[in-house]
Amino acid sequence: MYTKLIFELSKEGRVGHVLPTPDVPEHDLNDFFPETMLRSQPANLPQVAENEVVRHFVNISLLNHHVDKAFYPLGSCTMKYNPKINERLASLPGFTALHPDQPENTTQGALELMYNLQEYLLEISGFSGITLQPAAGAHGELVGLLLIQKYHKMKKRTRSTILVPDSAHGTNPASARIAGFKKVVSIPSDSEGRVDMEILKSHVNEDVAAIMLTNPSTLGIFENQIVEIRALMDSVDALMYMDGANMNALFGIVRPGDLGFDVMHLNLHKSFSTPHGGGGPGSGPVAVNDKLKEFLPVPIVVKSTNGFSLKEDYPNSIGTVHSFAGNFGMYVRAFTYLTMLGKEGIPQIARHSIISANYLRKRLSAAYELGYNAPTMHEFVLSAEKQKKMGAKALDIAKRLLDYGVHPPTIYFPLIVKEAMMIEPTETESKEMLDFFVDAMLAINKEIEEDAESLHKAPFTTPVKRLDEAGAARNLDVNFFKN
Ligand SMILES: *Cc1c(COP(=O)(O)O)cnc(C)c1O
Repeated sequence: MYTKLIFELSKEGRVGHVLPTPDVPEHDLNDFFPETMLRSQPANLPQVAENEVVRHFVNISLLNHHVDKAFYPLGSCTMKYNPKINERLASLPGFTALHPDQPENTTQGALELMYNLQEYLLEISGFSGITLQPAAGAHGELVGLLLIQKYHKMKKRTRSTILVPDSAHGTNPASARIAGFKKVVSIPSDSEGRVDMEILKSHVNEDVAAIMLTNPSTLGIFENQIVEIRALMDSVDALMYMDGANMNALFGIVRPGDLGFDVMHLNLHKSFSTPHGGGGPGSGPVAVNDKLKEFLPVPIVVKSTNGFSLKEDYPNSIGTVHSFAGNFGMYVRAFTYLTMLGKEGIPQIARHSIISANYLRKRLSAAYELGYNAPTMHEFVLSAEKQKKMGAKALDIAKRLLDYGVHPPTIYFPLIVKEAMMIEPTETESKEMLDFFVDAMLAINKEIEEDAESLHKAPFTTPVKRLDEAGAARNLDVNFFKN
């Protein structure tokens, strides 16, 4: 394979792009910058032809796994395919060239899009008020918890306990602490993978501000005791927060507002097909019912006879949680996605994601143990305990999957399943791709039965092999050149 990258290909005088003749007068740089800030030598940029530049980027894009390359069943992350039309529309100059300080009469289209997206999200979630501002799911959790805090404060009381089931995403307890709640109580799951009601009851008291539930849970199991949990919370006027990152299982079928939750966050960069990963901009809108509406962050997009405007005048608001209006490009993508799907398409997302997950669950249970036996929604958790006894653990299986060209599932999470492998296929994969994945998992199981030892050094075909992951994160080195 031809693997030379751009820096190695540079040849003096080779040209890939011709700059247009300037249509403004040329200036002497010294007019703008002090002498000491100017380069004495031109930058050492590679001199290459256009095709070499294109091949360089195509080749490096293939070194990593990504959802445009193949299957990405990373549980809890909803790595669905991101339709390319989202990108087309988000890059329209009418959106990209906007300045957030422009007068409102020149930004009506953008405000209308935000307003309509809010309306769609309210319709899907079953709530009455929403903010688009939070930049991520965890940020949405923090905002939701600050709203809950304000609710109790307005009732002139301090509450310091947040209840969180042990199957929750790690961000839930972390957000509760960051929001200032002193006590985060972990509620164990019962043998079915649902909230243990007896233990929950024993922790309900007048210090509880709220419970944070993920539904379906990160085990992919639908929490069916919501009415009982609601009654328990009502007995002490505590609120119910829903972690809505798993909305992919509920779209168009169940509305969390109707279930009795008071507040939830949504992950546009999961369920709503805006890209995620790599630390790029995300979006975690927070929807609330009437109890919390007056506390929402400002500004809020409102519609009147004069058109759309950003309104700041809400005296009980918790304040502003993001500069300007949040990550606007994500709104364009999510809005495009929902508009393309329409009312008929939206429930199909959930149905297909549930069918895909159950198909995988059934086929894979031929060789792998299940974390829990309860039927699952859009994701499920396998346990590689059996394989571990034969000599290869979940980590080895995950690494070996890379050789088969698919991204591994989430491993060792949730913590309550030993050797957990958490699989979420999403609705965007064909049966052929699902079968390819199952065949790979079954082939790996066979390899373990025959020679588990051989997996300890996997992957064998990727550009970098087994990494010291903690070390890589702590001593980040993103230099192209090896020293
Ligand atoms: C991803 C996720 C979050 C956090 O969302 P971020 O955007 O990564 O901050 C919270 N809860 C659950 C269940 C998730 O899957």
